[in-house]
Amino acid sequence: MPSFEEYIKEIEPLFESKWLTNMGAKHNEFKQKLEDYLCVKHAELFCNGHLALEASLQALELTGEVITTPFTFISTTHAIVRNGLTPVFCDIKENDYTIDPDKIEGLITENTSAIVPVHVYGNICDVKKIEQLANRYNLKVVYDAAHAFAEEYEGKSVAAFGDASMFSFHATKVFNSIEGGCACFNDDALAEKARAIRNFGMYTQQDVLEIGTNGKMNEFSAAMGICNLRHLEEEMEKRRKVVYRYQQNLKGKAGITLWSEQNNVKHSYSYFPVLFEQGGFGKSRDEVEQILQKNGIYARKYFYPLTSGAGCYSEKYENSSTPLARHVANNILTLPLYADLSVEDVDRICKLILE
Ligand SMILES: *Cc1c(COP(=O)(O)O)cnc(C)c1O
Repeated sequence: MPSFEEYIKEIEPLFESKWLTNMGAKHNEFKQKLEDYLCVKHAELFCNGHLALEASLQALELTGEVITTPFTFISTTHAIVRNGLTPVFCDIKENDYTIDPDKIEGLITENTSAIVPVHVYGNICDVKKIEQLANRYNLKVVYDAAHAFAEEYEGKSVAAFGDASMFSFHATKVFNSIEGGCACFNDDALAEKARAIRNFGMYTQQDVLEIGTNGKMNEFSAAMGICNLRHLEEEMEKRRKVVYRYQQNLKGKAGITLWSEQNNVKHSYSYFPVLFEQGGFGKSRDEVEQILQKNGIYARKYFYPLTSGAGCYSEKYENSSTPLARHVANNILTLPLYADLSVEDVDRICKLILE
């Protein structure tokens, strides 16, 4: 959070204007700042990342099947299914847990209309191979980039890839607007359509041409986003130090695989996942989680279960063909990570794990 004073100063004009939502001054300022920061033509703001993803998929008028990863937050799969589309789950890569492009091709059918990959943990997908496949088979690509705000691949903003990219500004993410999110497009018509969907499908008050929803970002959220954007680089630098400390303490231990930085990527250090393989480590992921919890440390099983194994989907869709994703989901734990986490606390967490 910004300081109380900074936020109060930011929202003070709202008590004069009394303009609380529906694309007010703070919304417009935040949007402009994001478009500059992300180097993208359109960053359409939403009240959360999930609706930004749903609206992006709807704007592309997809049909039939969508190839996606089950190793993600449940929102990704819900956004596909709530658009009346069928998710087809593809396995992930062993090194960075993003969708395995070499396994996508075998899943493409005449009904496939799009690929929805996820830059999970801020690990950038194989954007080049995915683009090649999309071009060859005439598929749309929508990135769930909820974990990858502010990241760059080969010097290029992560918002530049695919037909659309969605970011989440939820309170738990590296960058927040309390709740919020955006959908990024380079195509003008697509952006216009997403804006209409965001506001009940209205292009003007008379022209309701889409079956829309209410996904608008309010002024207080936009003001929080404006404040937090000022401090983002500093936050990421602090998070980098926490990650490096974890790596120093835990590297080279048998049965532990640590998150490691990808080449040519500017990371935002959004998560620090650790894979615990019982054979080598001696304790299962669940046992480690329990021991940490008994000591007041809340690590999270991101992402367990696989979305394909969620109660609402497990009977409905094929979910046996992603063995690697299943293995990772069963053994991974993300350790506490935030800018103000002290070196002493990181050391204490690591000591508990290693003991
Ligand atoms: C957080 C998250 C979302 C949803 O974003 P909200 O802003 O919480 O709606 C979608 N996908 C992934 C991978 C996420 O982590």
